[in-house]
Amino acid sequence: MTHIKSAYSVSELMDLDLIPKSQDDQWSMLEQKYAIAITPTILKQINLSPSHDPIAQQFIPSLKELDKNDQELEDPIGDYKHTKTKGLVHRYPDRVLFKIVHICPVYCRFCFRREMIGPNADGSLSPQDIHDALNYINNHKEIWEVILTGGDPLILSPRRLKIIISGLNKIEHVKIIRIHSRVPLVEPSFINDALLETLASSSKAIYIAVHANHKNEFSKDGIKALKKLNDANISLISQTVLLRGVNDNLTALIELMKCFTENHIKPYYIHHLDHAKGTEHFRISVQEGRELIYKLRGYISGLCQPHYMLDIPGGYGKIDLNSDLNIKKIDNGYILTDYLGNEHFYND
Ligand SMILES: *Cc1c(COP(=O)(O)O)cnc(C)c1O
Ligand code: SF4
Repeated sequence: MTHIKSAYSVSELMDLDLIPKSQDDQWSMLEQKYAIAITPTILKQINLSPSHDPIAQQFIPSLKELDKNDQELEDPIGDYKHTKTKGLVHRYPDRVLFKIVHICPVYCRFCFRREMIGPNADGSLSPQDIHDALNYINNHKEIWEVILTGGDPLILSPRRLKIIISGLNKIEHVKIIRIHSRVPLVEPSFINDALLETLASSSKAIYIAVHANHKNEFSKDGIKALKKLNDANISLISQTVLLRGVNDNLTALIELMKCFTENHIKPYYIHHLDHAKGTEHFRISVQEGRELIYKLRGYISGLCQPHYMLDIPGGYGKIDLNSDLNIKKIDNGYILTDYLGNEHFYND
């Protein structure tokens, strides 16, 4: 397939034969609720023969997203509870999340922040909001690392990104800037000289956590973009979500972890799926996930090993699911112990 534009609607996806043509009203309901976008780079990587494609599963909407489930939450990881200034989430002492933009070049159908992102969401930061967040960071000497997220921070123009990076450069106690992004693989053309210059203008160590869930997301152009980041002295780490129908088997995970490592991306996290609305069809159980990830240890090099993480619902932080220290099986679920020693019931 050759497309030069991103697809943003159900009708465009029907025209491309990526969704079966239908008049069902449910499609327009879905479109109003959750944003859709698929970039040309990603459209090209979709291969619908055989019909079950790991890329299509991640980005092409499904009516299953309208299914309701009691466990599902608007704010599955408790961002709001720890929000200090607009866009700034301070849950752990030494690091903050700074949600600097609320749009993405692609919209993942399983996104944990799906209720807060997209062109219709109320997520833009005004210059005053940015000022307030930088001020908060400046006033909290314990903040060592600032994690830029969103949305996808690298969708911002280098000029707008530079405003934030220069602000952080002036704060002595911040040593690390980490950027969570899908851009290098889904919109590689954004990794251009202007962006690289902006990143290089920082005196901090810059890490990019590259989000990918299947090796097929590594296109030729994407690999070139990763190489540019590497050449610019930016450290790369990975993040992946464990997803039914995308990467819920040993072969897919082995190939993905090796692919990261071969491209100088150090495997970092595999996330257990959060309880975001309309994502039940992607869910695999904690037990199944633990077994899969435990097996990786034997089949691939220590260099390729990720941590298997779960964000405790309600904003209590992440735990390592493959450590028996903080997870206990009980009849109808698990007792999880957070880093402060508090216990939480988790219904799997
Ligand atoms: C996930 C998360 C972080 C980063 O956690 P790491 O384990 O350092 O990757 C920081 N703050 C918040 C609020 C988070 O949800
Ligand atoms: S790129 Fe991240 S924030 Fe954007 S839709 Fe995907 S998971 Fe959500």
